[in-house]
Amino acid sequence: MATTSPESVREEVREWVAANWSPDLTVGEWWTLLAESGYAAPTFPEDSFGRGYSRALANIVTEELAKVKAVGPPAGLGYLLAAPTIATHSTSEQKQHWLRRILDGSDAWCQLFSEPGAGSDLAGLQCKAERDGDEWIITGQKVWTSTAQLCNMGMLIARTDPDAPKHTGITYFGIDMDQPGIEIRPLKEMTGRAMFNEVFLDGARVPDANIIGGLNNGWAVANTTLAAERAGLGSGGSGAAGSAFPGPISNQLGVRVGDTVGQERTGGTGGGGGGMAERLIKLATENGKITEPVIRQGIAKLWSLQQIGKYSTLRMRGGGASAGAPNLAKLMMSDMLRLNREVATAVLGPEMTILGKESMSGGMQQEMVLFSPGPSIYGGTDQVQRNIIGERALGLPKEPDPNKGAPFKDIPKNT
Ligand SMILES: Cc1cc2nc3c(=O)[nH]c(=O)nc-3n(C[C@H](O)[C@H](O)[C@H](O)COP(=O)(O)OP(=O)(O)OC[C@H]3O[C@@H](n4cnc5c(N)ncnc54)[C@H](O)[C@@H]3O)c2cc1C
Repeated sequence: MATTSPESVREEVREWVAANWSPDLTVGEWWTLLAESGYAAPTFPEDSFGRGYSRALANIVTEELAKVKAVGPPAGLGYLLAAPTIATHSTSEQKQHWLRRILDGSDAWCQLFSEPGAGSDLAGLQCKAERDGDEWIITGQKVWTSTAQLCNMGMLIARTDPDAPKHTGITYFGIDMDQPGIEIRPLKEMTGRAMFNEVFLDGARVPDANIIGGLNNGWAVANTTLAAERAGLGSGGSGAAGSAFPGPISNQLGVRVGDTVGQERTGGTGGGGGGMAERLIKLATENGKITEPVIRQGIAKLWSLQQIGKYSTLRMRGGGASAGAPNLAKLMMSDMLRLNREVATAVLGPEMTILGKESMSGGMQQEMVLFSPGPSIYGGTDQVQRNIIGERALGLPKEPDPNKGAPFKDIPKNT
């Protein structure tokens, strides 16, 4: 890395973007350039396709890409969750293979964590992995697996030692989703879409070489994924323009990248925190509701929360945030989506009942309203975030656990 002052980084990124960004490239060509330059994941170390930048320097990269409406790195959970987990815990061979393929869009990853009996109590998972020579055989069920139908790789946590206590007998694997032992069944949401899925693993196979972070060390590795999830979900997105969905199934790598600018990201919350107040101001101005005091008050509150969220995110990225800040950021995102739901419904009135592109807001507000309960559940529910803040930031005592230290196989299940 030649330069590290904010001014010189800005200059270097600006020059690189001017020389490389073109809306006429294909999505695959642009993401390859971004991955090779280290700007796709600038906070990663140099041996992990990054530049070793601080969060503050990485913000400059995002800003410079956004200024020219250049498309950001690949959307989806591969970039948001698998990449930081692999960069932290993987062998150098795994990094060379998987990180490169995530950052240039070759692979799309889904998160095979939650099970019908293990959500908030994730360490209670029962999906099992049994060794068979150089491979592991996986049997179990995962649920709420977002975008699994579009992904060729999965972040899988499975129980490898049922004799060990709950948190210590779990292993983290990178699993190939395209195999006979895996069946993906979409779950239709009230938005009308089927973003998430049930995933049945019946004799699925994964090589021993695909273990991430060591045998029976999966809980520590999963916590890296969960920390990335909380920080990413609370931050309201990268700020870069639009995106295609990566991987061989969505088949978008050959699309002209300029045509994906302004597109909503697949599997997102319909816009994250940024721009909610501005969108409501536009709609309320269009239909004359902007003069109504209660609506003005709601929009002002939303705008204020947006600003607080923005500065909190910058503080987190700059490394100056206190313990519990990502959890607070995620709680605030839940609050903002609920407030957006109330104000948008007041602004749209009966129009809120009509879905589709021809309706007011192009159907976006209607979809956000239907999706609004989601963020207070995924990535750890609001109640779970509060527990974490209580225990890890405020130092309150943990909930008593009568089964602490007992072998997992002896703990009562689904009680
Ligand atoms: C839109 C969406 C996308 C998702 N995507 C994925 C994905 O890609 N991959 C994946 O693995 N999972 C995914 N999930 C699943 C998500 O992580 C779980 O739904 C979540 O962890 C909650 O688990 P649960 O649904 O089993 O609820 P439960 O754990 O059964 O909780 C039920 C209720 O009890 C409360 N509760 C539970 N334990 C406590 C406690 N100790 N203290 C206080 N209250 C408690 C909860 O807050 C909740 O209100 C997704 C969920 C949603 C909604």
